[in-house]
Amino acid sequence: MKTTVKTLEGSRQDLFIDGRFVAPKSGVYLPSYDPTTAEPWYAFAQGDAADVDAAVRSARAALVNPAWRRLTQTDRGKLVRRLAELVLENADELAMIECRDNGKLLKEMRAQMRAIPDSYLYFAGMADKLQGDTIPVNKLDTLNFNLCEPIGVVGMIIPWNSPLMMLTGTLAPCLAIGNTIVVKPSEHATASTLALAELVIEAGIPPGVVNVVTGDGTTTGDALTRHPGIAKYVFTGSTFTGRKIAGNAAENLVPCQMELGGKSPHVIFSDVDIDKAVNGVVSGVFAAAGQTCVAGSRCFVEQPIYDRFVEALVARTQRIKVGHPQVEDTDIGPLALSAQLAKVEDYVASGVREGAKIAAGGRKPQDGELARGWYFEPTVMTEASNTMRFMREEIFGPVVGVVPFKSEEEMIALANDTEYGLASGIWTQNIDRAMRFARNIEAGTVWINTYRSAAYMSANGGMKNSGYGRRGGFEVMREFSRLKNVVIDYSGAMQDPFVIRLR
Ligand code: NAD
Repeated sequence: MKTTVKTLEGSRQDLFIDGRFVAPKSGVYLPSYDPTTAEPWYAFAQGDAADVDAAVRSARAALVNPAWRRLTQTDRGKLVRRLAELVLENADELAMIECRDNGKLLKEMRAQMRAIPDSYLYFAGMADKLQGDTIPVNKLDTLNFNLCEPIGVVGMIIPWNSPLMMLTGTLAPCLAIGNTIVVKPSEHATASTLALAELVIEAGIPPGVVNVVTGDGTTTGDALTRHPGIAKYVFTGSTFTGRKIAGNAAENLVPCQMELGGKSPHVIFSDVDIDKAVNGVVSGVFAAAGQTCVAGSRCFVEQPIYDRFVEALVARTQRIKVGHPQVEDTDIGPLALSAQLAKVEDYVASGVREGAKIAAGGRKPQDGELARGWYFEPTVMTEASNTMRFMREEIFGPVVGVVPFKSEEEMIALANDTEYGLASGIWTQNIDRAMRFARNIEAGTVWINTYRSAAYMSANGGMKNSGYGRRGGFEVMREFSRLKNVVIDYSGAMQDPFVIRLR
């Protein structure tokens, strides 16, 4: 891997098209900022419509290149396996790149980079298990079957929180199927995707199979979502952007998979061990400084334990260590961009204006090094209600609102009273109640006595304004392949040319 933290510092990063780094046609480069210092640390290329076109052409050529198209499914699986090995070999360097770019904890990124290869291995193993069916039809001497084929060029647009993990969820299955790809990473965390593209080539995957066009959303992203050469889009990002992308894609009748935002409910019943539930809520909303799509940012607590729970949650929150993401005992690093910090501050202020109280945190740390970066204290808001703006809109920061409830009926109504439907959590010892929750909640994922334990083996995705399509498990292999029906008549009989009969 040529791209390292050392080579990135102060560098200009080009686009990655057809297996090579190339300068953007516009000649424009944008700064990438280090969230711990708010200073630029390298520059990335601003791809425009011409660059996007070159990348899509490269991906379309790779699709019919015999070096990719004529590989057996087994051999394609071997290449994806080799990529897994390379990601593991470079895990520490990739973790450091992610950490510098988006401020996520180094220790978390190290663990993530060691887990990502397993995901590649899982999908590599599926490369030779994707198959069509033979279909019995109402006619003798006829063979009717479905071929299962790659869907084509997949356009992927990813966000800045955990870019490689987000990318792997669809890149790994797409490679195993034999698709080709054009990725646009977020303008706030570009470097890790470029580094991965180098590993793709090193793994022996032919040039053009994976192309990376960097740049902002309104120029580069918009051009990608209007290109007629794309077969399907995968978008991971905000609901606001998802709507625009789905609109552009619809003009070309191109389907999308949408992994969007959330405002997930986290429900606590009186029968739980309070410390364990508090730990779950903390991990659900404060990990990664709240910059996770599944953040359990609306916490509903059964009335009898409400006061004790809030007291324990506040005490635990006040012990969270906000600090530099490379320091081993840091719990929460900075937010990834200054606009995100301003947004979090605005939501907390709006909650206070609407009558909520700040029980813990609520501000940017003012001391020393932390004052320079985009840090925000983990924040607990009480006297909140589900109607307040900060409880209805996605914050994507370390802020939780806590609301008491009296009955199961009231709780499920509150939990479902949101435009989103991504994730949900419940803490209770009553399995009947937990299963009723699992059945009645409008969310793609339900966690019982745990939170944020996602797996690439299970189908993940949203309901309502949190998106559509499923990622993970065998389901995703179906989403990125297509069936072609083939009919062979081996009867040798002459047919009446003017009568087509349905069989
Ligand atoms: P964002 O929507 O601002 O940006 C996501 C990507 O879209 C970026 O690459 C951006 O450049 C691009 N983009 C922006 N405008 C565009 C346009 N007009 N056309 C094409 N592309 C455009 O999201 P973000 O701030 O980077 O990420 C945070 C959001 O992502 C949150 O809402 C979070 O919930 C969501 N997210 C969802 C999941 C999931 O699996 N459901 C996972 C991670 C993040």
